Amino acid sequence: MKLLIVGGVAGGASAAARARRLSEDAHIVLFERGPDVSFANCGLPYYIGGEIAEREKLLVTTPERLHSRFKLDVRTRSSVEAIDRTAKKVLVRDLALGREYEETYDKLILATGAAPFRPPIPGIDLPGVFTLRNLQDTDRIKERVDRGVKQAVLLGGGFISLEVAENFVRRGISTTVVEKNEQILTPFDKEMTTPIVQELADKGVTLLLGQSSEAIEQTAEGLVVCLTSGQRLPAQLVIFGVGVRPENKLAIEAKLEVGPRGGIRVNEHLQTSDPDIYAVGDAIEVKDVVSGEQTQVPLAGPANRQGRIAADNVFGRSATYRGTQGTAILGFFDRTVGMTGASEKALRRANRPFRKVYIHPTHHAGYYPGAEAMTLKLLFDPTTGRVLGAQAVGGAGVDKRIDVLAVAIQAGMTVFDLEEMELAYAPQYGSAKDPINMAGFVAGGLLREEHPQVDVEAVLAAPAGERAFLLDVRTPQEFTSGHIPGAVNIPVDDLRSRLDELSPDRTIAAYCQVGQRGYLATRILQQKGFSASNISGGYKTYKLFHPSA
Ligand code: FAD
Repeated sequence: MKLLIVGGVAGGASAAARARRLSEDAHIVLFERGPDVSFANCGLPYYIGGEIAEREKLLVTTPERLHSRFKLDVRTRSSVEAIDRTAKKVLVRDLALGREYEETYDKLILATGAAPFRPPIPGIDLPGVFTLRNLQDTDRIKERVDRGVKQAVLLGGGFISLEVAENFVRRGISTTVVEKNEQILTPFDKEMTTPIVQELADKGVTLLLGQSSEAIEQTAEGLVVCLTSGQRLPAQLVIFGVGVRPENKLAIEAKLEVGPRGGIRVNEHLQTSDPDIYAVGDAIEVKDVVSGEQTQVPLAGPANRQGRIAADNVFGRSATYRGTQGTAILGFFDRTVGMTGASEKALRRANRPFRKVYIHPTHHAGYYPGAEAMTLKLLFDPTTGRVLGAQAVGGAGVDKRIDVLAVAIQAGMTVFDLEEMELAYAPQYGSAKDPINMAGFVAGGLLREEHPQVDVEAVLAAPAGERAFLLDVRTPQEFTSGHIPGAVNIPVDDLRSRLDELSPDRTIAAYCQVGQRGYLATRILQQKGFSASNISGGYKTYKLFHPSA
């Protein structure tokens, strides 16, 4: 067996190592255009910021180590230029020696990744304007930062830009993030990004939403990023982080099937439209675990797992890829935001029925020092209760809840399963009723119709004459320090004695700070004959939608 692998980082290196473990005799060649294989893309921003001090730490392994441990024929600075599917050979350009040669294959794995998108605007090629994908980009950016950068502009408000923003702040650089949408981190629902927007402001990062760049100019003082709004942002360093595009040139030229967004089409065995050619990682189209639709999700975890699966199939093990659910997480200083499965906006776009709840628990027992607040949003099927998606934002403990919910989604679990989950508990780690259980209780209660809930946005969207009566059941002090406009305050402890102040003809939307007292108030009101619901997640959820109210 002669296996050729194109691309030597996440997907390609995983495939190569797995292939060797499955066959001592195969001839395995790993082609990589750049000088490094298997480097830690995800660590690059932290090397620029100094958090990762040594460059060598970013090299997960080297061509030499891959050769000595795995007997791999690693060819760096080697670009595969074309595939001849009939003759089963590839054309390789040796970038160091400037010569071309051919190499035959029995099986071929494409792990070519995705390249940062560079919008064709004037000034994109000016010195000081970068994208960030590999160690060479990192070296260039870091060298410039080390020489002294006062102002930087990051175009795009996605994961990579925000990671770079954190590291620029650490380096004392005045940083502006420009995002063309009305929210950062577009895979998330907008309200769940509110705490990160606040953290950006707290750390001195300027965020410009709904704006994009139309040109970059070089002036005597440095670069100027010209925005469509007419605003001009001076900078000594500009990075485009406006998304990636699958590296599909080889596949297209070899007439392999490619999806509408450019991802190489593969079946569940990660086989392309040519059975002798497999493809993995950022270059491919994948099935969305929740919707079943084809999509593209450029993440390291899927790329690594796909590499293994492709190698398994090459060596006769029938392995299948289940699909991708988009489990992703971002740290921005002490804030963490994570998600898994479908977002609310994806479900709306797909016209798929869903219900949602918000809870605001602490990450471990509130009485134990150091408890940090988080917000957890759970999306689920209104009929079966199947978990469709989850997002969480807070500090410590967000990662753990998102991981548990990622497993729940992959296992096809329901909100009733979340109620029953037995999770590790001691006060410094969690709560006897873990946030996962709490989300299950609230969602399960909703579906069993024990606990009528409404979404604050739905209440406020109703025409004035039909709007529910907003009842704030918090303390007068809490009410005075901020409430939903139009709400009337009757603290939950006084509610039983003040029911005569409420009209039995009006639907009541009760709320407290996070939903607990609102739930109790709803139970009292319902048993006394009122039509009442609890606003999911209470005032804290309202503030996610209306941060400056
Ligand atoms: P890549 O890792 O991009 O590797 C593809 C390789 O193929 C490249 O090195 C390229 O040079 C080579 N290649 C392409 N064409 C050819 C050719 N014709 N001939 C030879 N070689 C070729 N993901 C996460 O899940 N979490 C994170 O925290 C995270 N952080 C990131 C931070 C940064 C700065 C970046 C850039 C990415 C980050 N990612 C993260 C994304 C993650 O790195 C990618 O999803 C993953 O690397 C994809 O693996 P891949 O093998 O498909 O592609």
